[in-house]
Amino acid sequence: MAGPRVRFAPSPTGYFHVGSARSALFNWFVARQHDDGVFILRIEDTDTERNREEWVDGILSAMDWLGLDLDEGPFRQSDNQAQYATSVAALNGGGYLYYCDCTGDDVAKRKGDNKTPGYDGFCRDRGLDQGPLTALRFKTPREGVTTVPDLIRGDVEFANATIDDFVVAKSSGAVLYALANVTDDRNDRISHVIRGEEHLSNAPKQMMLWEALNDALHEDVALPAYAHLPLLVNEQRKKLSKRKDPVATESYRDQGYLPEAFVNYLALLGWSPRGDEEIVPLATLIEQFRLEDVSHSPAFFDVKKMAHMNGEYIRSLTPEEFLAQSAPWVNPWSSAWRPTDREPGWSEDQFDEALYAKVAPLVQERVATLGEIPAMVGFFFSDGVSYDETAFAKSVGNDPLGQTLLAVAVERFSDVDWRADALHEATIEIGEALGLALRKAQAPIRCAVTGTLVGPPLFESLELLGRERTLQRLRDALARSSQ
Ligand code: GLU
Repeated sequence: MAGPRVRFAPSPTGYFHVGSARSALFNWFVARQHDDGVFILRIEDTDTERNREEWVDGILSAMDWLGLDLDEGPFRQSDNQAQYATSVAALNGGGYLYYCDCTGDDVAKRKGDNKTPGYDGFCRDRGLDQGPLTALRFKTPREGVTTVPDLIRGDVEFANATIDDFVVAKSSGAVLYALANVTDDRNDRISHVIRGEEHLSNAPKQMMLWEALNDALHEDVALPAYAHLPLLVNEQRKKLSKRKDPVATESYRDQGYLPEAFVNYLALLGWSPRGDEEIVPLATLIEQFRLEDVSHSPAFFDVKKMAHMNGEYIRSLTPEEFLAQSAPWVNPWSSAWRPTDREPGWSEDQFDEALYAKVAPLVQERVATLGEIPAMVGFFFSDGVSYDETAFAKSVGNDPLGQTLLAVAVERFSDVDWRADALHEATIEIGEALGLALRKAQAPIRCAVTGTLVGPPLFESLELLGRERTLQRLRDALARSSQ
């Protein structure tokens, strides 16, 4: 048997939704499980009002970032108009379609209080000819049941009476989603249609179209297997909202998620590898993935969990890899790619690459995303300190003991050996003399030097910052506290 032929078929109408990224990934898994599996990208760009070229670029670059390489495509539906016209002509010739000149208002008026959704079939037997305002509708069977054999959900039955005579081509001639999609799936010999659950209700219509085309074109193209992936939900267990939830894959790249971590997390949305481990190498994910094992209950898109996982991936990088991966956030001037709207808080001249190489191991242990690095290391590269006012007031401004401590530290640090361990010892001693535990004694120093109360390990940071700059900052903070 030939390997599976799968496709990812996004519509370029917005940011690359994490749900789309998961669909792309699961398709790609199925293709990559077989030596002769084929993964196709088809851009469904027939909705000219909502499509934008920049969204196509977003899809391509996000897939590239995630490493989802293609075997065929990208194809574009806008190039396939002739094939769609062939489908319409065949279906029309085969008696599967009829012309309809009803407006939405006409239908609403006729239906009155009858809330049955969809078209009421008014034109089905009117025998209208094509006219400037006639759409083409598909005559769905009035009786019987259409069963969608879904690899994830089992057999899903749809009573044909509930499926209205849907439009396949508008009066303008434009072919709508269901038929365009089926035409391409047939021509591309797609073996598995793997997509989000929101398309489950399209499946019976598409199966009807598929079989009608087989009949009208005297072909025998095998129906694909269907797999509708579970909905992604937020913390409130509501469907992820494009407006309210952070759903743009691009934004995760900009925040500094590693593609390996993002892929690993996406794989867990509705599926899990064998065993207890959730951090699993890509090759294992590919090998173990089975559509049949995907759950049909909604999957919680848990950003906190994903951030945690990303932190684990970051910590597993070698120091060299960490330097390379973090470069776009700290030194965008020398990087081929840079994150959108995320300038570091320093200039190209202020950035010191050699110093960053020494600082990097201190932050690699502490960040969940690469985008957190600039705020943590900014005090190394900017000339002055930008203070978190609350932190400053608490540790220095409103605390006479904090001020005394800084004054003593200026003295002691002037001739202490400039090494982390010696600075550590000196701070313990200064604290003891003032009756302060180390944690309390560190706070004013940290705030004076870095501007905040959280950050990389203090004494290693002071060693790297150097005596002159440290003393200057301690004095500046003291001066500031007495203003
Ligand atoms: N263009 C559709 C979408 O983006 C694809 C549906 C399908 O995969 O069949 O939702």
